[in-house]
Amino acid sequence: MKLNINDKFTKELPADPVLENRRRQVEKSCFSYVTPKKTAQPEMLHVSPEMLANLGLSEEDSKSEAFLKVFTGNEVLPNTTPYAMCYGGYQFGNWAGQLGDGRAINLCEVTHNNKNRALQLKGSGETPYSRTADGLAVLRSSIREYLCSEAMFHLGVPTTRALSLALSGDQVLRDVLYNGNPEYEKGAIVCRAAESFLRFGNYQIFAARQDHKTLKTLVDYTIKYHFSHLGNPSKDTYLAFFNEVTQRTLDMIIHWQRVGFVHGVMNTDNMSILGLTIDYGPYGWLEGFDFGWTPNTTDRQHKRYRFGNQPNMGLWNLLQLANALYPLIEDVPTLEAILNTYQTHFEAESLKMMRSKLGLLEEVDSDLALIQDLEDVLHLTETDMTIFFRLLANFNAEKADEGFNVISEAFYTPDTISEAIKNRWEQWFENYAERLKLETISSSERKENMNGVNPKYVLRNYMAQLAIDDADKGDYKLIDELFQLLKQPYAEQPEYEKWFAKRPEWARIKVGCSM
Ligand code: AMP
Ligand code: MG
Ligand code: MG
Repeated sequence: MKLNINDKFTKELPADPVLENRRRQVEKSCFSYVTPKKTAQPEMLHVSPEMLANLGLSEEDSKSEAFLKVFTGNEVLPNTTPYAMCYGGYQFGNWAGQLGDGRAINLCEVTHNNKNRALQLKGSGETPYSRTADGLAVLRSSIREYLCSEAMFHLGVPTTRALSLALSGDQVLRDVLYNGNPEYEKGAIVCRAAESFLRFGNYQIFAARQDHKTLKTLVDYTIKYHFSHLGNPSKDTYLAFFNEVTQRTLDMIIHWQRVGFVHGVMNTDNMSILGLTIDYGPYGWLEGFDFGWTPNTTDRQHKRYRFGNQPNMGLWNLLQLANALYPLIEDVPTLEAILNTYQTHFEAESLKMMRSKLGLLEEVDSDLALIQDLEDVLHLTETDMTIFFRLLANFNAEKADEGFNVISEAFYTPDTISEAIKNRWEQWFENYAERLKLETISSSERKENMNGVNPKYVLRNYMAQLAIDDADKGDYKLIDELFQLLKQPYAEQPEYEKWFAKRPEWARIKVGCSM
């Protein structure tokens, strides 16, 4: 393993690494050195073979004692200096001040095949940024992050990755029951990997403190190591940087809309500067197609981060980033012009994405109306998004009147569908059949194209929950089964057909949780 020790920031060496871990405001620094907490009885539960290969490690390596110790924080690699980053953020629309890596510790960077990746432990103990919390993670949230980040990668969505999932052997206190008894859960640690874990909040904290010197240091660092194609620091380069972050963020959110992923906490501290999906907390997957749905139980009133609002929230967050970068740029019209491109590009890219989901290669003016009409009908009755789009590929344009039956498996309560709704569907299928006549490719080619953008298998909330329930009892087979299944989300996998199914009724109200 070739390690690049991260010594690129300006920093002060801590006098005492233990004292350095205490909670505090960290001024004029991008990060603090920390030492991961040793754990009682570490046990590796799962390792991603794809990530091992990306890092130049073998399966054999992953079975070693050293691997277990390093990726559970029980041993620090020689000549490395783990650190936690300082960042702030707007949480649910309000400036929250310093947040920082409260339970994430960057171990080192690894260069392999010309790609540089930072490795980070999540749940490895306190840092100066832990505020009132313990710096730990529980098994259930770690399973959710581990499985989902790898699944998103295989879906083709820009994301941070996961290398390993381990038990710490420690008990973690999350809730106190109504009867006053503490409820302990199994502690776990995920090692995640990304080119960088920098977030919008990393820049915002320095702008908020009017520490423009450190802001510039961090922006220049980011451009030098992650956007080097933009050239040397200058106002134009900073604008080009903001423009690229804008386009990458947009691209990521279009992918979320395509696969039905709802992030759940799009606070600016959870927005990656590289446009990667980061922080798999209370995320969820759409079951019934519903722009108003959010998996986040703490956001049920305003539903700020609901499915249909993710594109707007991306723009809102970019506006906050523009404010943070402003001191280095001082050019409002150009920043505004870039933000305006987000809106126009979003409309164009969203249309393109929806056309692809419908198997439309030609571009016809009426497509937007056809798509909006479909979205309206999808809202009339609870219709499983994943199953609907997958079945739609079987639609035969010669037999428009069979359309309703082709997709009827996607309805959650088929018996309650009124004649009026059925008529709406029939009308829509007639329009769709008409529209398909303008396409030149064969229906089998169209099916293949559609199946390449409409996944058959996603990590439905109940699937993760089943894996969590088994894991709580010490059975980790389902984690592996889902991991294998989700490696090929677009392929037909007859042996896993049972996972191409609607959410069972018992799982209706179950949602994820970030802590
Ligand atoms: P999140 O809502 O997951 O993005 O977390 C918001 C902030 O809380 C971040 O600064 C996290 O590092 C911090 N945080 C979340 N959980 C914990 C925890 N168990 N211990 C310490 N900090 C945490
Ligand atoms: Mg976070
Ligand atoms: Mg989180």
